[in-house]
Amino acid sequence: MERLTRRAFGGVLGGAALAAGRRPPNILYIMSDDHAANAISAYGSRVNRTPNIDRIARGGMRMENCFCTNSICTPSRAVILTGQYSHINGVKTLRDPLDAGRPHLGKMMQQAGYQTAIAGKWHLHCEPTGFDYWNVLTRPGGQGLYHNPVMSEMGSEKTYPGYATDIITDLSLEFLRRRDRKRPFFLMCHHKAPHRAWQPDAKHAGMYTDPIPEPLNLYDRYEHRSQAAARATLKIGDDMTETDFKQPRPPGLTGDALRKWAYQRYMQDYLRCVASVDDNVGRLLDYLDREKLSEDTMVIYTSDQGFFLGEHGYYDKRFMYEESLRMPLLIRKPGQIPAGAVNRDLVLNLDFAPTLLDFAGRKAGPGMQGRSFRAALEGRTPRDWRRSFYYRYWMHLADHGVPAHYGVRTRRYKLIYYYGQPLGTSGSLPEPRAPEWELFDLEKDPHEMRSVYGEPAYAGVVKELKAELARLQKEVGDTPWEG
Ligand code: CA
Repeated sequence: MERLTRRAFGGVLGGAALAAGRRPPNILYIMSDDHAANAISAYGSRVNRTPNIDRIARGGMRMENCFCTNSICTPSRAVILTGQYSHINGVKTLRDPLDAGRPHLGKMMQQAGYQTAIAGKWHLHCEPTGFDYWNVLTRPGGQGLYHNPVMSEMGSEKTYPGYATDIITDLSLEFLRRRDRKRPFFLMCHHKAPHRAWQPDAKHAGMYTDPIPEPLNLYDRYEHRSQAAARATLKIGDDMTETDFKQPRPPGLTGDALRKWAYQRYMQDYLRCVASVDDNVGRLLDYLDREKLSEDTMVIYTSDQGFFLGEHGYYDKRFMYEESLRMPLLIRKPGQIPAGAVNRDLVLNLDFAPTLLDFAGRKAGPGMQGRSFRAALEGRTPRDWRRSFYYRYWMHLADHGVPAHYGVRTRRYKLIYYYGQPLGTSGSLPEPRAPEWELFDLEKDPHEMRSVYGEPAYAGVVKELKAELARLQKEVGDTPWEG
């Protein structure tokens, strides 16, 4: 019966099903930019509290193992919309535009009878398609500004006085107030925060004056790991600017002392930006409660990828290491998703579109490579759920000196291959690098401090994972680098 009902939503009977009152849930999808799970108290943060984001976790499910397939802003957003890997949807780097003519989640939710909207960060280098209402950050480069952002409302650009996180929430609330009440809504509320350069508003500027706890590997020496790890230029202190610090670099501070000081400076501003996001999540949840919409609305909180908060001495993302790879994902839908639940299945940003379409009563689009994890959300993970996944970062030595790499992560292990060759993603030809591998045993070494690649005890694991990597690469239609 369940299956019949869902099929009815998906087919020509969709309208009839809607008319009969069996309406699929509203969906409020809140996504911030570069918000690490380690800065959310529902995920056990040691550095801050996020009482409003935690409301979603309390009323729904916390996904412990949600990962992105390419840890960088524009590509992850394209993966989320298309349900396809970067090499298939064409958005491999920060600079690649999404082909707006492609089928994607917004368009398919429209076809499923939803009123669709997006407010905030789009950053796909084209005008949004598939949204009945859109108002997105534009200058500079689709990144937008924290203060007095320039936004394009359906193609008409103007400056919005105020703070971006508040404004994006105001616009989201405005859409909800004016929505077509005859249809379910699908609203994507996409924050700019807490993206670099971490500019908080005055309201939160006084927070975090006590020292913020340091991660255990803030002063990492990169022993037992790749040159890639050691040479990357995303180090707290050395690889930051006065724009990041919002003040001159203190004279005489170098090495670990600089890192210690810069960590506090960085984290204060990062967490202040997060505090504003959390307040604004609260405003949206309060609205749903007040309008008696909470029961009928699925609420999602996520971020386009993870972020280093001093682990390995880093900020930023890109690497296949855990803090960068892991996305926070909290989903609440009373009556359908158990409250206060935790799930440890391997789910991907690739799965978001198929999952939301599933709740909308629709099949995944043709060519979508992700798989709906609706069953897992309802507390019954299929036996054949994935036990491994494929990752690839393409921007060889661009911006933060992270070499291009691909790899496989299973529930216990992670194998990474830095293939060491320039891909020519930018005008300049980056230096060639010797290829190198890393293998982490996440059970014994959850902080990824020691690559065991090359250790005899792991020879069998390496062999299996290389075979799995080749299998996955073929399955998703990518090809190995042949330098
Ligand atoms: Ca991002």
